[in-house]
Amino acid sequence: MSFDSLGLPVSLVEAVKAQGYEKPSPIQEQAIPAVIAGKDVMAAAQTGTGKTAGFTLPLLAKLEKGPRAKPNQVRALILTPTRELAAQVQASVQKYGQNMPLRSMVVYGGVKINPQMQNLRRGVDILVATPGRLLDLYQQNAVRFQQLEVLVLDEADRMLDMGFIHDIKKILKVLPPKRQNLLFSATFSNEIRTLAKGLVNNPVEISVTPRNTTVEKIEQVLYEVDKTKKTALLSELIVENKWQQVLVFVKTKHGANRLVKNLEARGIRSAAIHGNKSQGARTKALAQFKESQIKVLVATDIAARGIDIDQLPNVVNFDLPHVSEDYVHRIGRTGRAGNEGLAVSLVCQEEFKLLKDIERFIKKVVPRRVQPGFEPGEPLQPSVLDTREKKIKKPKVAKPANRAGGNKKPRGVRNNFVGG
Ligand code: ADP
Ligand code: MG
Repeated sequence: MSFDSLGLPVSLVEAVKAQGYEKPSPIQEQAIPAVIAGKDVMAAAQTGTGKTAGFTLPLLAKLEKGPRAKPNQVRALILTPTRELAAQVQASVQKYGQNMPLRSMVVYGGVKINPQMQNLRRGVDILVATPGRLLDLYQQNAVRFQQLEVLVLDEADRMLDMGFIHDIKKILKVLPPKRQNLLFSATFSNEIRTLAKGLVNNPVEISVTPRNTTVEKIEQVLYEVDKTKKTALLSELIVENKWQQVLVFVKTKHGANRLVKNLEARGIRSAAIHGNKSQGARTKALAQFKESQIKVLVATDIAARGIDIDQLPNVVNFDLPHVSEDYVHRIGRTGRAGNEGLAVSLVCQEEFKLLKDIERFIKKVVPRRVQPGFEPGEPLQPSVLDTREKKIKKPKVAKPANRAGGNKKPRGVRNNFVGG
């Protein structure tokens, strides 16, 4: 399959070829024709599978036809959970649509609202927005939706994780009911399906499952280590292995700041990226990381989600994630586009339960190492692979007295493996 056969105008086909894309990714192959045909689409595919172009290209193709946006009107609205993602999506819109007479704009919070209000006056064909700022702008009459043709929810699962459901519902209420809806997500969780029910009509469902191939290309190891020695171990691993660009995941914003401080104190240039950082600080950290001015970028899951950094050689889980799927998202940041990647987890005894869940989820036991000098005082229990499928979690109900723990009945097989 080539880009020529998807129904895209020549100018867009040329624009993607100029990007060096040789053929559409599986998600693009399926999503592009469906969007052009005017269908509602629900698509799930893992991070890094080209979802952005999957909706941006057909969106540009559609909007090229039809009347331009009138003052303060928007023809296509793309909602994303974070500022970084909004900026990235907008960059893609501009890149692919550079030869088209369409106006696009990005709005997010944390920066002045007045310039945004001014720019919206002329009307925009494509508006990329985070939910909170969009609502602010709407309440101030800076944006109107009478001309709205298409709504895109990008990274919908992350939007729900971040608690945007109420904002999304408020936004849906002010959009014209007759419109095309596109929902893109890394997974189809039950929450996503519930959201989709009130959103998409008779959608084309697309689910791409490259999970195993992607994950299998990534070398995974874990170091057993005491919790208090993690920072020292990380800095030794960075120096000893001459890692040049490391994305480190931590659980909390506070933990991210602390780790950066400690690494800097050891002479390792680092920066943190998380929700409490100003927009300027985040953009700067990301740029410095990409340009190799800093070696280590410490991120929380939410801040890191969806940020595209090409050919990342090393990913480190300083803390294991509490949601097993996040492990796959995290390590998926390395080894992209056929490059080899190494994903290292620093695991202490307290995290054994999380490790067990992750290994069950990825259906493999992560090989273990102990760095000389960092032998854990409290050893990690050995892993035994649990091959049972993960079950859907039902809301807790009072247990009948005669059913002991450990005798839980299977309650339907979970089908939202990452990418699937
Ligand atoms: P997702 O939203 O699924 O996480 P992105 O849309 O951010 O993924 O794309 C990930 C990377 O893949 C980007 O660097 C993008 O430029 C690149 N990419 C997208 N489509 C293609 C393609 N057809 N061929 C090669 N690279 C692609
Ligand atoms: Mg994306």
